[in-house]
Amino acid sequence: MKLVRGIWVSNFPSRERLFRELNKVGVDPKEEDIIRGIRDTWSWGTRLPADDPRVARIEATFPIPRDGIGLLISCQAEYDQSEIDAAELLKISFSVRSREELAPYMGAKFDYSTACPACGSGGTLLPGSGFPARALPAKRTCAVTSLTVLLVTGDLLQDLRQFPNSEQWLVQLADNKKRHPLPWHAVWSRTTLPPAFTRSKGFALQPDDPRFACSICDRNRWATSFEQPYEYVYSREEVRKACGDAIPEAHTVPDVASTWERDGCGSPIDGSATVWRVPTPYTFVSQRVYRILRKHMKKHLYGDPATLVD
Ligand SMILES: [Zn+2]
Repeated sequence: MKLVRGIWVSNFPSRERLFRELNKVGVDPKEEDIIRGIRDTWSWGTRLPADDPRVARIEATFPIPRDGIGLLISCQAEYDQSEIDAAELLKISFSVRSREELAPYMGAKFDYSTACPACGSGGTLLPGSGFPARALPAKRTCAVTSLTVLLVTGDLLQDLRQFPNSEQWLVQLADNKKRHPLPWHAVWSRTTLPPAFTRSKGFALQPDDPRFACSICDRNRWATSFEQPYEYVYSREEVRKACGDAIPEAHTVPDVASTWERDGCGSPIDGSATVWRVPTPYTFVSQRVYRILRKHMKKHLYGDPATLVD
């Protein structure tokens, strides 16, 4: 495992200006992922070794905030293939252009029966959830929402459907305007892991914005700390208790599970249609699901192994 800096420059109004700024700090933007964001802005992300002098140059060139342009530099761990191969449970993340959100205001539907009534944490995505079909890529088998929920179709979807438990974590989407079913599914598991932050390192509550602070659970603002990489530690016993029947026979972990920690702030569930969005879980997968995703997504998929302690 080695330490890297995750760098994310967002909301540039023009591709040309973003290229110019990146050239100034000694980065060839063409070597990295330039991502056209929603609403016609340009974002760019990469990972650089923690001791790369360009990290400091980037920090000096893109001060926060300026003209709405954002810069995030986080501390991340990059794992060797042998560490990935040995992991039973891995958190997945992606370097894929992000699309729109899975949110009530976009037409997504949620089951709130196990959710926090103040912020919606714990709400689970329901089949038939609306998503803008125009935001989905025509020739790819994967996409990612702006709050990093993985969407799958085609061969990748077929491979994931081989798992007998896939109905628990593949949620069919519908066109949010015409309401007809889409061939796309979201990966959103109803199975929830125990809280990770009690044992793990690298967790931080996002800054307390009074608009989003939850008066009940504070479960909706957990994200990776910028100072140290995330190290996931779960107790096997707690995972067994929390995930129960979702762990396949002769296996030690569920194939796909949501984290207890949620991201995306959320808004009050008050029984009306005013819910704006629902906090989104991070997703962990078993080694066998990770291998299927890796086969299709290749370098666009990252895995962070969890440590399971007895
Ligand atoms: Zn809450």
